[in-house]
Amino acid sequence: MPDQNAALLTIDLAAVAWNYRLLAAKVAPATCGAAVKANAYGLGAAQVAPVLLAAGCRHFFVATLDEGLALRQVLGGTSANRPQIFLLNGLPPGSAAEVIEAGILPVLDSPPEIEEWCRHGSRAGVPQPAAIQIDTGMSRLGLTAREWHSLVEQGDSLRRFPIAALIGHLACSDEPLSPHNRQQLAAFRDHLAVARGVVPAGTPRSFANSSGIFLGPDYHFDLSRPGAALYGLNPIPGEPNPMRQVVRLQGKILQVRDVDAGTPVGYGATHKCAQPTRIATIGCGYADGVFRALSNQGAVHVGDHRAPIVGRVSMDLLSIDVGAVPSDLVQPGGMVELIGPHQSADDLARAAGTIGYEILTAFSARYRRQYLPAE
Ligand SMILES: *Cc1c(COP(=O)(O)O)cnc(C)c1O
Repeated sequence: MPDQNAALLTIDLAAVAWNYRLLAAKVAPATCGAAVKANAYGLGAAQVAPVLLAAGCRHFFVATLDEGLALRQVLGGTSANRPQIFLLNGLPPGSAAEVIEAGILPVLDSPPEIEEWCRHGSRAGVPQPAAIQIDTGMSRLGLTAREWHSLVEQGDSLRRFPIAALIGHLACSDEPLSPHNRQQLAAFRDHLAVARGVVPAGTPRSFANSSGIFLGPDYHFDLSRPGAALYGLNPIPGEPNPMRQVVRLQGKILQVRDVDAGTPVGYGATHKCAQPTRIATIGCGYADGVFRALSNQGAVHVGDHRAPIVGRVSMDLLSIDVGAVPSDLVQPGGMVELIGPHQSADDLARAAGTIGYEILTAFSARYRRQYLPAE
């Protein structure tokens, strides 16, 4: 029996498919892949990935080997036609055989990883494909410019296995006016240019995440890798969100009480009611991913009415002031909206001082989950 007091997370798989198709049309004739790392940004890779596959996606990006192995189980496919799974965080030492067995493409992020793939990245003597990431201005993962240049000069290690993709990643794509975008684009083009004649023509180039897609066709290259936008987050902050909302999060009203002016609410008594009002207690808290930073910040919606979060968010509970909400809407057992038509995950994130990505990936296992089918 699912716990009827737990918060309810509804994930609209039709919206995920719609969002994929929108992005795929936007990058055409380039190909659109999908970032499904971190359990498809907390929404459930086992449910989301098949929907993306059915919508035409053939290139999936995960962070870790465990995610890749689990995704291969979900996606299946015979070796000839199976969808590609890229391992963004690189090749774990000693894992080449397992990676090849599962038909996963490591993204080689350093000279030692390339060296290891040259040595162990074969099956029955046949070198297997892998991608290479080049750092163009983020200092996170991938070969530095110097490492890339020296690799290209030596040449032979780049000829020892098929290169599935050359990957770059943008640091500021959600800030379209940032000069860093153009600089990274120029660096990526330079890195491609120096490799001409060493890396075969036609090797797929992959550069854009969700926001990168909206920087324009210069950024699309051959294969894009959106994540956030698929899940309804706004890839162009400050402008109307072109994506469909995917997530709805509702908490249950457990108790309602009338309080006098001056009544304290929650741990630390950080909120005191300014006037007589009503306080409703909602059955979700920071252990569910409703960040404690939302204490005395932001709001939920009861029907169409905004109800501010008052007092500290605790582990399993939070309190809202429903003094301005018609009392027939505020009954124990009723649901309130934390994320939904009135307030997006991006909105809730803003109130918590974070980004929508962190809201989604923090969704807890305690929620009841409901998936609306893709068709
Ligand atoms: C997470 C990630 C993506 C997807 O980014 P979004 O902003 O969610 O679209 C693409 N590429 C790399 C390398 C990533 O780490």
